[in-house]
Amino acid sequence: MPAPETDPSTSITPRTQPVVPPIYQTVNFRLDENSYDDIRATGGLNEYWYSRFGNPTVDAAGAEIARLEGAEAGLMTSSGMAAVAVVLLTLLKAGDRLVAARELYGDTRDLLERDLRQLGITVDLVGAADLDSWRQAVGRAPVAVLYAESISNPQLRLLDVPALADLARGAAARLVVDNTFATPLLIRPLEHGADVVIDSVTKFLNGHSDVTAGCISSGRAHIQQFQRRVITLGGSLDPHAAFLVSRALRTVRLRLDRQMSTAARVAQFLKSRPDVEDVIYPGLAAYPQRELAARLLPAGRAGGMVTFVVQGGNQRGYDMMRRLRVLTEATSLGGVETLVSMPITSSQFNLSEKELTEAGIPPGMVRLSIGIEEPEDILSDLAQALDASRRP
Ligand code: PLP
Repeated sequence: MPAPETDPSTSITPRTQPVVPPIYQTVNFRLDENSYDDIRATGGLNEYWYSRFGNPTVDAAGAEIARLEGAEAGLMTSSGMAAVAVVLLTLLKAGDRLVAARELYGDTRDLLERDLRQLGITVDLVGAADLDSWRQAVGRAPVAVLYAESISNPQLRLLDVPALADLARGAAARLVVDNTFATPLLIRPLEHGADVVIDSVTKFLNGHSDVTAGCISSGRAHIQQFQRRVITLGGSLDPHAAFLVSRALRTVRLRLDRQMSTAARVAQFLKSRPDVEDVIYPGLAAYPQRELAARLLPAGRAGGMVTFVVQGGNQRGYDMMRRLRVLTEATSLGGVETLVSMPITSSQFNLSEKELTEAGIPPGMVRLSIGIEEPEDILSDLAQALDASRRP
């Protein structure tokens, strides 16, 4: 028989408090006569009763990411795209105008150009790093939302978040920033004046390539609006996935420290190769936005992504990838294993040739997501694959 103070539903007693919070792997929670007040008053946003509305394990992961982002509140979603869609469908309605960076993850661009336009929302695209274009676009007509990635996928353009936040404020618009590539360990957009931050938790935050998840971080009032959308659109996260995210967050600093220090070495190595036409890494002296990088990024840290352009175009790029033995050719990023992909056939597969050129994705562009392997193993694998690959 359990001791009297034992909670029979969990078997937790004062003497068996777990160090790791348990998983509330449940769809629903027992109701009593006190449960219904919140259901009637708010639609059940504050009491646990049905896990699509809220679940303690899921909320714990959201609270931890909000803490990392310096936000009042965080809301987990079933993917990064669910977070992007929920935020934009909540902040925009038919007749509104969105100004967004042209350099975006391919599916985000699809959402903007196909789905949002179909709903009667005007979408104007500008160069992420071209402040004058942002100013002109914002000055041309009323705008409801400005949207961009803090470090763009895959060109690694850096967003001047403080300048865009000023611009948004002046236009009574909201600034929404996708912080997936940077992570809050590099940039905390809310501290620079952004209104809403989105993370694809699938990437560095979870970091083990085994969970698809997203998170929205913002003020409490905004988060409650987004929560209503997650409920009706059905983009909530499963508790087991949220448990894995919370576990991964315990090592996010360790992982990212290693990923960033190796990424800096990989960027330097690629820079030294005569058969590499361009290396884009915000920590390099040759990085085109180095002054902004010095202002926005912590000293000595520039992220875990490295993008380069190999001499010989796409064919050489493919040939080089196929010769790698330590690095894995796969889409996605942020995991403990180093991943390599060519954006034209992965993250930006849906862009036309013209759109690729406009977005700064030339033939031969290769994207690296650096993992936690021995740095020497990564460097020697890249060297042998570049040496062995055929120049057309
Ligand atoms: N934002 C960025 C910058 C991404 O790279 C991705 C996916 O690659 C997403 C959002 C979408 O995230 P998810 O795949 O978790 O839906």
